Amino acid sequence: MENQVSHGSRSTPSIHQRQEAAGGGLLDSVKKAAFVIGSALFFLVAFRNSVTWHLQRFWGASGDFWQTQWTRMRVLFDGNEAALFFIGTMIVPTVSFWVFNAFLMVVDSTGRPSFIARYRIQQEKNNPVDPVRLRQALRTVIFNQVFLSGPLVVLTYMVMSWRGSPCAHELPTFHWVLAELAICGLLEEILFYYSHRLFHHPAIYKHIHKIHHEWTAPIGVVSLYSHPVEHVLSNMLPALIGPVLLGSHLATTTLWFTIALLVTTVSHCGYHLPLLPSPEFHDFHHLKFNQCYGVLGVLDRLHGTDDKFRKTKAYERHTLLLSLTPLTESIPDEPKKTQ
Ligand SMILES: [Zn+2]
Ligand SMILES: [Zn+2]
Repeated sequence: MENQVSHGSRSTPSIHQRQEAAGGGLLDSVKKAAFVIGSALFFLVAFRNSVTWHLQRFWGASGDFWQTQWTRMRVLFDGNEAALFFIGTMIVPTVSFWVFNAFLMVVDSTGRPSFIARYRIQQEKNNPVDPVRLRQALRTVIFNQVFLSGPLVVLTYMVMSWRGSPCAHELPTFHWVLAELAICGLLEEILFYYSHRLFHHPAIYKHIHKIHHEWTAPIGVVSLYSHPVEHVLSNMLPALIGPVLLGSHLATTTLWFTIALLVTTVSHCGYHLPLLPSPEFHDFHHLKFNQCYGVLGVLDRLHGTDDKFRKTKAYERHTLLLSLTPLTESIPDEPKKTQ
């Protein structure tokens, strides 16, 4: 039908019309992106003025506590900012990552505690996880962290300390930390979405991103299971860019890296647990390959790369679980059609 319409007006396609046809999609996306980012900023301001007022009162009571701890740390390290920076950006987030993943790997390998295992999204998969594949994934993840994340964090320290001390005596205000986290999240979404889509280009996919997609039913630790190029461009850079551009305080950067690593672990873990962010979106990406490329999903909505996802039961389950009933029970898959 669409072809018929365009053929019908074949006699009078002006240059202007043709330009619109070629650039319309892009222009439309840019307009939509401006609208979404504008709305996000509006809500950020509204959020700042309401909810954070209450949190600020709590922070006001505990703010001195954190400032005292930070001052103590600085004294303990005798002003060695490089060491403080490495601990804050590498050790703290990495230890948090492994503590969480150690727990998840116990569930993946033993199916216990069964209380957790019953929340598995792809129920018949990784039950239990193949120990050989798990060991291979672990080797790659450790390689990426030691030989890529570590040096990249040192490089980041050099860049950040060149433009100002990231370890200033005074901690940032609570509101500023929240604003920076929001900006970091937005920048990560943009960089991750487009680099991820690029890695899905047929000419590149088989050389780089295929490794990450060996796991069609991912587990937590697989979040960092990738080709070295992908680890730097798609895992590290989107997370690093925010603190570098903003010149963030180490406290904010530590918090952001830890949140980013825990969130990517949740999105790969394969269990839709109560009160944790829904992993359905990225789990669906691993299952279907050409849907749901982003983290937050904003850009997928803009570019229509979540159209198939939004017609599935997984999309209905893509919410914050507030009860103890697994969503695979409350919103079960439709019985498979026999065609
Ligand atoms: Zn993934
Ligand atoms: Zn992918």
